[in-house]
Amino acid sequence: MIDKWICLECRFIGPTAEFDKMKDPRGDDVWMVCPKCRTPQITSACDEPGCTKEGDCGFPTDTGDYRRTCYEHSIFASRPKPLQAGPPT
Ligand SMILES: [Zn+2]
Ligand SMILES: [Zn+2]
Repeated sequence: MIDKWICLECRFIGPTAEFDKMKDPRGDDVWMVCPKCRTPQITSACDEPGCTKEGDCGFPTDTGDYRRTCYEHSIFASRPKPLQAGPPT
């Protein structure tokens, strides 16, 4: 699992260590907040080095690993497109 996160507000990208942590005021959870804009709107980024998109696609690899990438870097993009491509449900 690649340690790479992206802020949905300002597109800041970094590993867990570069994000600030904030305690959930109503529970024991710890939120990651963006060090730049302080939003907790953070999601996993595409694990392809240098890619700055959200990791929308998750899939297992041949080596038993699990990847999270944008569509462009996923295994789905390299497959022939179906004739009737609909939006994912
Ligand atoms: Zn941010
Ligand atoms: Zn990507």
